[in-house]
Amino acid sequence: MKEFQLIESFFKGRGPVRRDVTLGIGDDCALVQPAENKSLAISCDTLVENVHFLADMPPKALGYKALAVNLSDLAAMGAEPAWMTLALTLPEADEAWLTDFSAGLFEIADYYGIALVGGDTTRGPKTINITVHGQVPQGKALSRSGAKVGDWVYVTGTLGDSALGLDILRGRQQASAENSAYLIDRHYRPTPRVLAGQALRALASSAIDLSDGLMSDIGHVLKASGVGATIEVGLLPLSAAMRDTVPLELGLSYALKGGEDYELLFTVSEAQKGALETSLGHAGVKFVKVGQICAGDKLKLRHEGEAFTPLLDGFEHF
Ligand code: ADP
Ligand code: MG
Repeated sequence: MKEFQLIESFFKGRGPVRRDVTLGIGDDCALVQPAENKSLAISCDTLVENVHFLADMPPKALGYKALAVNLSDLAAMGAEPAWMTLALTLPEADEAWLTDFSAGLFEIADYYGIALVGGDTTRGPKTINITVHGQVPQGKALSRSGAKVGDWVYVTGTLGDSALGLDILRGRQQASAENSAYLIDRHYRPTPRVLAGQALRALASSAIDLSDGLMSDIGHVLKASGVGATIEVGLLPLSAAMRDTVPLELGLSYALKGGEDYELLFTVSEAQKGALETSLGHAGVKFVKVGQICAGDKLKLRHEGEAFTPLLDGFEHF
């Protein structure tokens, strides 16, 4: 299969139709029309086989996740998804693989209304690179740098499920069939908190998406904001599947150190707390307060009045 045939068969004319795409796939560049008074938010992520995903990952899940992780970056800035490009490197044009990969990609692209406007196709070790473009009202983007002493720290969803799902896939943990299915699904199909991010624009003082694990990612917020934080470990949201599968201390450790949850961590001032409950509630997203920003530059973990040390020593990328 030739490159142009591959693009025609699997990528052109699919996904949402957006009126702000003046010229899509097929020319040397795409042309899009950004809205007035909005800033462009741009981010890219690369997934390399055997580095970021296992070779036996179902291609449909891979297509889904490759876009989900990019949408999560837009969510963390409060941006609305608009356009994307896809640079695909494949050892061969495997039609069954392309069918499933593109089905997963367009499933989530349709849901969030992001149009595929171009890309690049090359031969080589399997690698997926997506660049997303979002729009955010000028001056309203969320960032890592706005957390203030006294602000409350919140997270969306539940934490640690993706890392536990990966450990189940790798045979390092065992769970019931039902819990395994749930946890592996969280690893394969994370939910980017796109609407929550937009709802937080007017409310949060800072935000970040959790890709490397809470302990590591909150460090970026603390550094950028010049503050410290205390996390009440007992408040961390654990799924029923997590609680069923591992002892509490290990579950809390997964929540603190496990990567790839793609939930949002954000800070909110005391004055905005009430508005948060209403507004994020309306976006239909679960969120919970887990700690508070304090002076200094340290992250303190507390559990039942004492310092907490997570059990697990790092979740290296295999
Ligand atoms: P060029 O050689 O000018 O860079 P290509 O032949 O690589 O153009 O691509 C032709 C058109 O197909 C371009 O519009 C490009 O953006 C698009 N394209 C190439 N690969 C992909 C892909 N994997 N997904 C979506 N669009 C693609
Ligand atoms: Mg060209």
